[in-house]
Amino acid sequence: MQASKLSIVQTGEPVLRQKARPVSRGELGTPGIQRLIEQMRDTMRNAPGVGLAAPQVGVPLQLAVIEDSADLLAAMPPERLAQHGRRPVPFHVIVNPVLTLEGDSVEFFEGCLSIAGYVALVPRAARVRVDCWNDDGEEVLIQAEGWYARILQHEIDHLNGTLYVDRMHSRSFTTVDHHKRYWDRLTIEELRRTLLIP
Ligand code: ZN
Repeated sequence: MQASKLSIVQTGEPVLRQKARPVSRGELGTPGIQRLIEQMRDTMRNAPGVGLAAPQVGVPLQLAVIEDSADLLAAMPPERLAQHGRRPVPFHVIVNPVLTLEGDSVEFFEGCLSIAGYVALVPRAARVRVDCWNDDGEEVLIQAEGWYARILQHEIDHLNGTLYVDRMHSRSFTTVDHHKRYWDRLTIEELRRTLLIP
């Protein structure tokens, strides 16, 4: 069943630049928060996106939903999935996450539902550890690598008022259309050389 969808706020909205506040265990069990989670899930799937943080729907809480569905991945070339370390991630909720970065930095183009129509090359840690709660308020340890690690870093950034434009190679900032037209086929080395990224 689909709950009604929420609108996704765009960059410039103050809530995207604030540090979201932690959710209490008591609060997490309330119908209001459980309904918010369902609505965020449906809004993410409809976009479609692989993650959505509460500030993106105007709610300044330390909560995000994540899902990289097999359906979404089926539409992508297998070699691209392998290159990005992208594998299906079942739907789940992260609450009050504490992020630890691990591994080397890796660079890929990424976008954001709150900066619609654009992407940029963003360095991110190859692996992460996330200590958080799930939607039942149980403590969870997530250890992730590849694209999932990138999604977690992107969503947890949102909970701290940070957007990918704060971390991107600014010379790589492009519309989605121009990314497909000019940049999509190039390797990271070719991109850095062509875009004069130091
Ligand atoms: Zn985003």
